[in-house]
Amino acid sequence: MVLKYQYPFDLSHYDSSDGYNAPRAGGSNHRGADFNGFPEGTPIPAVAAGTVVENYRSGGLGWLVVLAHPDGAFSGYCHMYQQSPLAIGTSVTRGQILGGIGNTGEYSFGAHLHLTIGLNQSGATGGGSHWIDHTDPIQFINDRLNGDDPGNTGGPTAPTQEEIDEMAATKNASIVRDYQKENAGTLAIALVYPDGKAVKLAGNMDVDGAITAHVQVYGISPTNPSNTALRDKYASQLTTAQWNAFWAVYPGTKIGF
Ligand SMILES: [Zn+2]
Repeated sequence: MVLKYQYPFDLSHYDSSDGYNAPRAGGSNHRGADFNGFPEGTPIPAVAAGTVVENYRSGGLGWLVVLAHPDGAFSGYCHMYQQSPLAIGTSVTRGQILGGIGNTGEYSFGAHLHLTIGLNQSGATGGGSHWIDHTDPIQFINDRLNGDDPGNTGGPTAPTQEEIDEMAATKNASIVRDYQKENAGTLAIALVYPDGKAVKLAGNMDVDGAITAHVQVYGISPTNPSNTALRDKYASQLTTAQWNAFWAVYPGTKIGF
């Protein structure tokens, strides 16, 4: 079985001018692939099913998570804006949100994801040699886009179609938007995840990109299919009073509120 991988984001966000192994001052080389053009907090999906084996703050790479995959490879997600809520040992499915894009660590100069693929665990955080301990994430993923997803790994799993339909029907996983605030010039959109987290999107964020990622991961059905703008197509529009009432009883964790 070839394990199925996905790119974390559309390749239009990949910085091909500074790819894997690109030269660095002082004779070193770039040990990952960078995705940029996102605001801090943009959800980062797992590139394949795996288990969380590292979750800490590195001086150079900032807040990071490393996943061990069943094919023996490791993926690293660096410079996250805060510590991932996923504990060591947590099983994740491909596409599961690991944390948010950030700018932490001495090697970061602007919000971006530094994605690594380790051929051993230390390789995922830049240890060892190129091509021996780590490899080109883009090439590695590209070779595995048509692989197989393993079955239930014992941890949280991607929602089934039935669960997706239920979430869409009950709005457990949804995109909510306060259009009265928007009319007043304040962007107020929340991506509400089925695991209980809700991420607020601000006006300077890549709102369309975040909504697209959310829809892809959770398969949300359009609430207003006749509309063309992403926000109108997928968001449940609430009045400010409804929005406030929604948050007053919301049981999960709010990020960015
Ligand atoms: Zn990088």
